[in-house]
Amino acid sequence: QLLHDLLNLKGNIRVFCRVRPLTLAENIGSLGLGLEPVVALDTSNLLLELGNNKSKRYTFDKVFHGSSQDGIFSEVEPVIKSVLDGYNACIFAYGQTGTGKTFTMEGALESPGIVPRTIETLFKQAEDSNHTFLITFSMLEIYLGNLRDLLVPQAMRSTDPLPPCLSIQTDPKGGIRIENLVSIQVSDFNQALKLYRFGCQLRSTASTNSNSASSRSHCMIRISITCFDAPERRQETNKIWLVDLGGSERVVKTKAWGRRLDEGRAINLSLSALGDVIHALQRRKRHIPYRNSKLTQVLKDSLGDESRTLMLVHVSPKEEDLCETICSLNFAARVK
Ligand code: ADP
Ligand code: MG
Repeated sequence: QLLHDLLNLKGNIRVFCRVRPLTLAENIGSLGLGLEPVVALDTSNLLLELGNNKSKRYTFDKVFHGSSQDGIFSEVEPVIKSVLDGYNACIFAYGQTGTGKTFTMEGALESPGIVPRTIETLFKQAEDSNHTFLITFSMLEIYLGNLRDLLVPQAMRSTDPLPPCLSIQTDPKGGIRIENLVSIQVSDFNQALKLYRFGCQLRSTASTNSNSASSRSHCMIRISITCFDAPERRQETNKIWLVDLGGSERVVKTKAWGRRLDEGRAINLSLSALGDVIHALQRRKRHIPYRNSKLTQVLKDSLGDESRTLMLVHVSPKEEDLCETICSLNFAARVK
């Protein structure tokens, strides 16, 4: 610990920032004046105009402004490929609702996001390799602090309209097991993509006052890869988590009440727990507070030294979102 402190070594967590472009409607709404408070200075620096001639500069591992899905993925790809080299990995999409988290992870039909591209890359790499890999796919969401399987078909559920709750077990070696999580072996891209689409449809979504279809849950995809015949190591399973986090906007501002307020609170709490864990890992603290949320408990054995972590922080280009943008950028700066 002391040596690490002296050398000021940092963990291997990287932080990217993506600024969503203005939509056509927003462009028309602003009469083309384009008062955008978020300016990308170069590929790693962002300037935030705060008004009154004040501004703040943020530095990240990468900054994307108006970038294509291809451009983002080429920077994300090394993290994905490291899974076949024996690492665990986590990729998070963080940000206020409406900033493009789902666009980045899921993408659109014409511009697929990180999840479909990851599946494609993993299968391609597995095929090109001399080894035999077994790939399995799981998908769950954390909603109101509960883990729910997104691959359990409606017919197999009881009278409960929601998928069954799952519990987390820790094995003596510190590994994490999610009890009864459906894990399906997939043998090609299309099979995995079908499962993914199925899971997406089950996601709990609801309307809040601040957004018509905001996601009040964390959506988590786990792809596990077992290599059977690598001579240089014993049979080993590595996994990658791809996480579309719930919206980071603060609940007090969304005028939510009742269930919406509970949902927002649950999201806010788990996001700050995630921030605390990454912050502690980056500074190589002795105590890492994994136990403070279900989100961090699930990821306990996939974050840290033996894994690759990528935080993709999304911000809005709009002036009216400036407060949330500042919050998101501060979150990102803290975990960097
Ligand atoms: P979030 O998941 O963070 O709530 P979405 O991914 O649903 O946000 O994005 C909100 C809207 O903005 C969607 O209509 C989406 O298609 C659009 N959008 C987001 N990011 C981009 C982008 N980089 N390029 C083009 N459109 C985008
Ligand atoms: Mg979304």
